[in-house]
Amino acid sequence: MEKIINQFLTEVNERNKNEPEFMQAVTEVAETVIPYIVTKDIYYGQNVLLRMAEPERVISFRVAWVDDNEEIQVNRGYRVQMNSAIGPYKGGLRFHPSVNLSILKFLAFEQIFKNSLTTLPMGGGKGGADFNPKGRSDTEIMRFCQSFMSELFRHIGPNNDVPAGDIGVGGREIGYLFGQYKKLRNEFSGVLTGKGVSWGGSLIRPEATGYGVVYFTSQMLNHINESIEGKSIVISGSGNVAQYAAEKCINLGAKVLTLSDSSGYIFDKDGLNPEKLDHIMYIKNVKRERISEYVKKYPKAVFYSNQKPWGIKCSIALPCATQNELNLADAKKLKENACLCVCEGANMPVTPEAIRFFNESGVLFAPGKASNAGGVAVSGLEMAQNSLRYNWTRKEVDSKLKGIMNDIHNSCLEFGTDKKNINYVKGANIAGFVKVADAMLAQGVV
Ligand code: NDP
Repeated sequence: MEKIINQFLTEVNERNKNEPEFMQAVTEVAETVIPYIVTKDIYYGQNVLLRMAEPERVISFRVAWVDDNEEIQVNRGYRVQMNSAIGPYKGGLRFHPSVNLSILKFLAFEQIFKNSLTTLPMGGGKGGADFNPKGRSDTEIMRFCQSFMSELFRHIGPNNDVPAGDIGVGGREIGYLFGQYKKLRNEFSGVLTGKGVSWGGSLIRPEATGYGVVYFTSQMLNHINESIEGKSIVISGSGNVAQYAAEKCINLGAKVLTLSDSSGYIFDKDGLNPEKLDHIMYIKNVKRERISEYVKKYPKAVFYSNQKPWGIKCSIALPCATQNELNLADAKKLKENACLCVCEGANMPVTPEAIRFFNESGVLFAPGKASNAGGVAVSGLEMAQNSLRYNWTRKEVDSKLKGIMNDIHNSCLEFGTDKKNINYVKGANIAGFVKVADAMLAQGVV
């Protein structure tokens, strides 16, 4: 088996040299899906995983724009259209200086499996730019978004490719991108998700990824006769996913001890409450300042500069910031502190060595493609509402989100249970693979 997996990975690596994040994502899937494929006549010999690892289309383009000092800036924009076997390409846009093709291909590849797990008809895609929004004025952000969309618009559409937000792209950016698309196409359509509620957005979309992570964590705990109530929780990040994961944890009676950003983390030993979380949302979403501002208003909390929160004793860890932010040493600290469960809010935040350690040492671990699928699931519901020209209530969307997270959990159990042990990585990868592979086989070699 090892030889077959290595042969496959060598072939993919030949075509994708110097793309470590993409190879990391493909390796994790290959290690769990290839042993399944070789036992199934319908997949074996069809090179279906090799086809999935090759993007259907990659678009790279110049984004030139004028800053507030009237200087011309140049960035690089991308859209990776990875797989459209089960529906239009769907996946977020990331604006961050670290963005490159390797990172976007890893995200687009993960998105294929995640979207498949939601049970909704969405293919996999991802895009973005190496643009750093930090410190930029609103008008600079608007001009950048307009320039970015002036090229992207010709490659996307409601039945073709429907982008959404990701790191650095929230409601404000989606607004500017949508405005420019509408102007260029002269049509009002559901071409982006994460729109404002008064202009085609869905209720619960901003909350969906964070809430979904916590619903999934609750299901993992219920499965071992535990519950989230009263548990201490360590969260990284303080953006969209982290904020709403924290909100749902607090609602369910858990104690959220930390949040972070790229400058460090805050530790509040009394736990966050709704008022404290509102203040964090004000710091991050309105003032757009650093998380350290929190301790000015709540001096009993401590700010740890340039550190990660994984050494704080907790029962549950939710990494919600970025890829590879929790390594083997962090995993060992969590285990020493009796952490029960680690559930990914971000995409691929836990390194492969740390995942292996969790699985071998009995810490429950869920990969983001299962646990953070709530965001894209509600994006799928936004697309459905746009097509129907109808809005579901908050209660209706939340109940559908819960149902989808429950279905994903069940799929992980179906494909990942081995002699009563649950491997959520294996379960998510195989369940996600089967649906897309069946569609690709039905549609022929294209
Ligand atoms: P935001 O931009 O809202 O927030 C990102 C957070 O992560 C910020 O606190 C940011 O800190 C921190 N961060 C970013 N890069 C780094 C880094 N290199 N080191 C440390 N901290 C960092 O993004 P989201 O909350 O939307 O996304 C977070 C993660 O969740 C990403 O992995 C994304 O792909 C994933 N995700 C998001 C979904 C969504 O619906 N938004 C859906 C599914 C997954 P700072 O402010 O200092 O940059």
